[in-house]
Amino acid sequence: MARRPFVAGNWKMHTTVAEATALVRELKGSLAAVGDRVQVAVAPPFTGLSAVAALLPGTALELAAQNCHPSPSGAFTGEVSAPMLADAGVRWVILGHSERRQYFGETEGLINQKLAAVLKVGLSAIVCVGETLAQREAGQTLALVQAQLQGCLAGFTEAQASRLVVAYEPVWAIGTGKTATAAQAQEVHAHLRARLADRFGADVADTIRIQYGGSVKPGNAAQLMAEADIDGALVGGASLEAGDFIAIVKAARPS
Ligand code: PEP
Repeated sequence: MARRPFVAGNWKMHTTVAEATALVRELKGSLAAVGDRVQVAVAPPFTGLSAVAALLPGTALELAAQNCHPSPSGAFTGEVSAPMLADAGVRWVILGHSERRQYFGETEGLINQKLAAVLKVGLSAIVCVGETLAQREAGQTLALVQAQLQGCLAGFTEAQASRLVVAYEPVWAIGTGKTATAAQAQEVHAHLRARLADRFGADVADTIRIQYGGSVKPGNAAQLMAEADIDGALVGGASLEAGDFIAIVKAARPS
């Protein structure tokens, strides 16, 4: 079956509320026509979620958050929970981004708990996996992403898995201007889909979108997303430029 491509913009720790709303205003008109063909989400920082949410009804854009805490509430200063995100109008939560793993020590076990919290309140998640340059050069890429995937998804059912999107993001390609070749990315995506099939069955694996992320730009997006198992993109830097993000979304094709 054809998978509807899904392109998400991860704005990271960028945009004031005014900048976030201005960016959404630029995006929404241009993306109105592609909504049936491509699913599109934007992930502003927490401070921008409510203001962006107010602009999204009637548009093709969905709201994503960049992280959440595994507990629903409690004495966790500085954290935001999944029920709070749902309340703010969020539909997707990005989990396990390599910057969270690298700078905040997130492990597969923690990501697994966060995923449970997200699914429990009816939200969906984009679960990120990816290898460092040293791991790629040591020939560990496939084993590493497989272990990350298995750790993050441990204990979930087929029905829960069908609410997930996986993002393959080679760490060496994030924010560096270096992109995996379409063939390099496709090899990893096919491997991830095969492992999803081992775990959840081929029918479920066939429906799960696997995004590529890592310096996706208007100039490389179409080639990457033309691959059989690349079902969209998780876009960092280029998602902050309306014209670039629109061009990337328009480059997506059903796979
Ligand atoms: C990301 O942060 O998920 C990402 C892919 O960033 P960039 O597109 O800037 O490499």
